[in-house]
Amino acid sequence: MVEHPVSKGDKAVITREALQSLIDVLVASRYQVMGPTVRDGAIVYDRISSVPDLPVGWTDRQEAGRYSLARRDDAALFGFAVGPHSWKRFLHPPVQTLWEARTGADGLAITTADEPSPKFAFIGVRSCEIHAIAIQDRVFCEGPYPDPVYSIRRQDAFIVAVNCAQAGGTCFCVSMQTGPKAESGFDLALTELLDENAHEFLVEVGTTNGAEVLAQIPHRPASDAHRAAADAVVAHTATQMGRTLETDGIKQLLQGNPNHSRWDEVAERCLSCGNCTMVCPTCFCTTVEDHSDLAGRSAGRVRKWDSCFTMDFSYIHGGSIRKTARSRYRQWMTHKLASWIDQFGTSGCVGCGRCITWCPVGIDITEEAAAIRATHTAAKENEHGGA
Ligand code: SF4
Ligand code: SF4
Repeated sequence: MVEHPVSKGDKAVITREALQSLIDVLVASRYQVMGPTVRDGAIVYDRISSVPDLPVGWTDRQEAGRYSLARRDDAALFGFAVGPHSWKRFLHPPVQTLWEARTGADGLAITTADEPSPKFAFIGVRSCEIHAIAIQDRVFCEGPYPDPVYSIRRQDAFIVAVNCAQAGGTCFCVSMQTGPKAESGFDLALTELLDENAHEFLVEVGTTNGAEVLAQIPHRPASDAHRAAADAVVAHTATQMGRTLETDGIKQLLQGNPNHSRWDEVAERCLSCGNCTMVCPTCFCTTVEDHSDLAGRSAGRVRKWDSCFTMDFSYIHGGSIRKTARSRYRQWMTHKLASWIDQFGTSGCVGCGRCITWCPVGIDITEEAAAIRATHTAAKENEHGGA
């Protein structure tokens, strides 16, 4: 295989072996290469240095409150959906030291941590996750006070997307119009093409940066057959969605039903554990903790992920605004699917399904929305029938 000049918008083909070259080129360009890998019975995101670090021949099985790994009958590298991690753990770290101060022989020294920021290359970013990153970009980078930790990490990130060849049991990206094909927001996008004759990837170039990287690894132009095969992969995945969510009028539906009895029903099951917010790739809330040592020689400030499911989250002036699980679940779901649109102009949900899979009692955001819609629609029909 020889190298050909490439530019943004081109499509090329690389072999499985060339994927290692891609990782090597990124490492040589001083990127910390992060990708999916198997650990502790799940597919998580961590630092990788070689193709065997990927979940070779593994897939996942997901349902509400259920997740397990299983062997595939092939050696696919990306034959699974999303796991408990999302890329936000690298762009918006779960624990971030904002500053530390120490007194010593030379007086007071104040440092800000995490300088210089790591330069990340993310391999295996799914379309829903690209949409989630775009949502967090709006939260952290736009407006008068951009977040410096996120902004620096984000501007340096190199994104290698992977178009999904298999939907998870809790996925509903088609409903949210966020997948399964990555349309933009990537430097390179891969579609895994695997059959008994070959194991290759169709590569779409999304940026000039991506073109420069691809130019350094063995590749050849994509044929019409390769393009058709890649289109067939994502078209098939789109038919496999584990869930659907009716989004028409959902903002008005949820904001118009703050006293719906379904909120009481879901509150009877919800543990207020906050798992759904921790795994969600768009949730961004944090708390800030200050600390000092007993000797008075050091102090610091740490930012940590927080959750709207904790009592402390809405604690002001001696009391918590949302004292009940009912009010906390209603706040979370209404924010995700309705008031997020008022705030940021888009839904706060990308249909990744993580909150469904990782809820210990299997609460399903699509089921909750459908239940409210069903009774709301029935009430409307009765109203009109009785009028
Ligand atoms: S609300 Fe649930 S399905 Fe939607 S983006 Fe968050 S974790 Fe994914
Ligand atoms: S909805 Fe599920 S994951 Fe979220 S707080 Fe309630 S029990 Fe925990």
